[in-house]
Amino acid sequence: MTRSEKPVLTGKTKGELAEFFESIGEKRFRAKQLFEWIYDRRVLNYGDMLNLSKSLREKLERETKLVTLFSRASQYSSGTETKKYLFVTEDNKSIEAVVIPEERRTTLCVSTQVGCPLDCKFCATGLMGFSRNLSASEIVQQYLLTQIDYPEEITNIVYMGMGEPLLNYDATLKSLRIFTAEETRGLSKNRITVSTSGITPRIYDLADSGLRVKISLSLHSAFDDVRSEIMPVNKKYPLKSVLESLDYYARTTKTRVTFEYTMFDGINDRDADVKALTKIIRRMPSKLNLIPFNSIAHMAPDGISAQLKSTPYDKILEFADKLRANNITVMVRNTQGDDIAAACGQLAVKHS
Ligand code: SF4
Repeated sequence: MTRSEKPVLTGKTKGELAEFFESIGEKRFRAKQLFEWIYDRRVLNYGDMLNLSKSLREKLERETKLVTLFSRASQYSSGTETKKYLFVTEDNKSIEAVVIPEERRTTLCVSTQVGCPLDCKFCATGLMGFSRNLSASEIVQQYLLTQIDYPEEITNIVYMGMGEPLLNYDATLKSLRIFTAEETRGLSKNRITVSTSGITPRIYDLADSGLRVKISLSLHSAFDDVRSEIMPVNKKYPLKSVLESLDYYARTTKTRVTFEYTMFDGINDRDADVKALTKIIRRMPSKLNLIPFNSIAHMAPDGISAQLKSTPYDKILEFADKLRANNITVMVRNTQGDDIAAACGQLAVKHS
């Protein structure tokens, strides 16, 4: 199967849509109308867009597409409302998105790539290898299709599914522009988080984009040697450069950076880690999430991946207390969705 030759109108920014309508001899304001149908009313069928003329609706139906993802399966995690969705692209690649309800919000975790080239040793997606970048439309459709299905309003989006969003920067940026547009119901910039492993040049670019979404860094160790072993990307962008770019991000956007820290028994849970982490967290407005490691044993990894074990939960709580004693804001995350491999670092599907 190959990808559509027809223009896919989801995933186009309002400006791009205006240009598109102009190019087919229509008025530019059609862009706002279409944008409202899709992102405010969540209508993905031209036939229902009644303020567009019949002939325009028929033309759009014939010559463009709104949806290219096929929803192949979805599954609730037992005892929770966490729901994982499996989508298939037009060229038969599989990607996943997860909806995670919490007390005061419902968060959608979106994928930005099919697989991931970065090979983090604790990550199921990394073990899959890399196939291709997703288009802006494929990122946006994960939101539209899950929102249409899921019974609650999605209030937050995290770019934390399969792939490194900042290695697919243009599509990520475009999807962010759509999610933060005034017409898009229920979302706002301070409810959207881009999670990165630390692609330094793109962190500066995102800071300068004017979008002011939140950013989180997959930190996982405060020491370069350990971090390089579990996250090879650290060899290219060592901690010093990543932290400088985050200082800039926090300063430019006036947002608080989140550090994600998955806890590995005997590897990053020592007193020396408390000390080094404290120094990092204090240098900018930030907070820290401690995450129990979710096993990826079902992927049959080898090398260091096979040896990684989670720090026991009581030790994670102790680690958190030591950081709090240093006045660090720390959250210990639970592992909702573990049973359906929907927890952090577990999204992976076979792809061709
Ligand atoms: S943790 Fe993120 S960056 Fe690392 S391999 Fe997995 S998907 Fe890629």
